[in-house]
Amino acid sequence: MRMELIAKYQEVKRTIPGNVKLVAVSKFKRAETILELYEHAGHRFFGESRAQELFAKQQVLPGDIEWHFIGHLQTNKVKLVLPFTSLIHSVDSYKLVKEINKEASRIDKVAGILLQFHIASEETKFGFSLEEGIKMLEDHEFSNLTHVKIRGVMGMASLSNNIALVRKEFKSLKAIFEKLHADYFMMDDSFKEISMGMSGDYNLAIEEGSTMVRVGSSIFGERS
Ligand SMILES: *Cc1c(COP(=O)(O)O)cnc(C)c1O
Repeated sequence: MRMELIAKYQEVKRTIPGNVKLVAVSKFKRAETILELYEHAGHRFFGESRAQELFAKQQVLPGDIEWHFIGHLQTNKVKLVLPFTSLIHSVDSYKLVKEINKEASRIDKVAGILLQFHIASEETKFGFSLEEGIKMLEDHEFSNLTHVKIRGVMGMASLSNNIALVRKEFKSLKAIFEKLHADYFMMDDSFKEISMGMSGDYNLAIEEGSTMVRVGSSIFGERS
């Protein structure tokens, strides 16, 4: 079991360039499984999509794990995950940005976040439109939010075998990143991440400029 996990991890890791961060998506997987990757592959970056689950796991796992929150985050759960989360990928509303800022300020932290943009043709995915993102960045109250640091963008492509479609969606996220960088973050070296790519499409995402891939089932196997 362990050998298989490590072998799968190494297979994924081998295809990812050194400048792209591999976030191992461990949602629904046991803490013991995470610990195996931690101890036997030396992996440190893990992604979780549910606040309660992340909270429970970080309590029993080593303190030097870098936790990434990747799921839809409700404002009332911000408090639970913020103290030990290094990057929230899935920030999809101005309201959530404000809540994260408020809570980060309370615990005297600057919270790293990515703005999630809606790039898929499917209706169900969360995320800002480019217009909504710009509206927030230009809002006069936005500059008061000194306890959030926007480190880039995140997006999820359609769950589709249509490579041309998925590639187009990744290109659109890259274009959003470039536009925001040019118009709002030119002087900000920490705005540099493009979180895109999952088990089914991370190679494509890397070709299109991803700096962080979020890979679950290719490492851990299917989720039950
Ligand atoms: C579950 C999840 C992933 C990983 O999906 P896999 O297809 O198992 O690699 C990546 N990103 C987000 C936001 C997820 O919820």
